[in-house]
Amino acid sequence: MKDQSDLKIGTLAIHGGQEHDPSTGAVMPPIYQTSTYAQAAPGVHKGYEYSRTGNPTRHALEKSIASLEGGKYGLAFGSGLAAVDCVLKMLKPGDEIISTNDLYGGSYRQFTKIYQDFGLVFHFTAMDDAANVEKLVNDKTKLIWVETPTNPMMNVIDIEAMAKVAKQAGAMLVVDNTFATPILQRPIELGADIVLHSATKYLGGHSDVVLGLLTTADKDIAEKLYFIQNSAGGVCGPMDSFLTLRGIKTLDVRMERHCKNGKVVAEYLRNHPKVDKVYWPGFEDHPGHEVAKKQMSDFGGMISFVVKGGTFEDASKVVSNLNVFTLAESLGGVESLAGHPASMTHAAIPVEERMKTGVVDGLIRLSVGIEDADDLIADLNNALNQLG
Ligand SMILES: *Cc1c(COP(=O)(O)O)cnc(C)c1O
Repeated sequence: MKDQSDLKIGTLAIHGGQEHDPSTGAVMPPIYQTSTYAQAAPGVHKGYEYSRTGNPTRHALEKSIASLEGGKYGLAFGSGLAAVDCVLKMLKPGDEIISTNDLYGGSYRQFTKIYQDFGLVFHFTAMDDAANVEKLVNDKTKLIWVETPTNPMMNVIDIEAMAKVAKQAGAMLVVDNTFATPILQRPIELGADIVLHSATKYLGGHSDVVLGLLTTADKDIAEKLYFIQNSAGGVCGPMDSFLTLRGIKTLDVRMERHCKNGKVVAEYLRNHPKVDKVYWPGFEDHPGHEVAKKQMSDFGGMISFVVKGGTFEDASKVVSNLNVFTLAESLGGVESLAGHPASMTHAAIPVEERMKTGVVDGLIRLSVGIEDADDLIADLNNALNQLG
């Protein structure tokens, strides 16, 4: 499809940056399971030389994410963390990064256990107040790293406000858009320089692939990222690219159902006597609700809650008694998942640090899937009612 400038996001999910296979007319891009490409004479080829540098199936996916995020350039990696790694490799020893204090645990681990030793300096703060970030800015600040809504506390960070701080600091704004997806939130339109995805989650959407994506609209940034992607080599294979592209085709309809079910589950939990607190940005009294309303088109299907009593045992009992929800790491798939951040996704974060941000022992995180909401409610009801 040639002119895509007027297409809406639901159409772009299917057609964005895509063309039918030029050699056969295949509607889906073939899985080009090849490492190398024939050359007619040295340097004379059809645009591909070696699959680390470029692969047609991967390119189809890279064009898809660029189109969906309103960027110009897309890059695909073997995992979300490989995408994080590519961004950090743009920096030099002494450069400083300011990030949210309830960052995804894997990103936090890479920052503090790998890149800190290479001389990068990280600051973590509560980013719901831009003043906290401004206080940490200095002439060495190179990156402001935002995740919103945050994992697992569902804090909402004002992307436009962060873009302003970044611009003033002469730093780049990176937004990890894994939770919201481009269906609900498009950070480039709000001033972000780079958008990152763990496509393992909603974009792939079927819990069958691990993959990461970056998008930017800036040519200079894109060139640096492409250089690192090819030089460091953290790319994904053609089969995984295909699966992710296949997932993205239904992203818009899946998100609609995730949001609808998310609302039902959040409201149910809020009224349950065995539940203490529910974190979901769709609640009017959620501290980030107004910002969420401004920058997101809906509130998503990620919910965290604290069981009454709040002990590890209480939370453990609830997640173990769930049936339709599967107790597992990860999120964003068609199936509903439940997790216990303190012992699972956030186990790498020091206890004092995680308690400070609200990741208490009794916290349970739900990734509400696209099943029938009645079954999800019945399942939660059954598990919660078994608490003493
Ligand atoms: C899962 C996740 C990542 C890491 O992605 P992987 O594909 O697991 O490497 C990064 N950020 C967020 C918000 C995530 O949920």
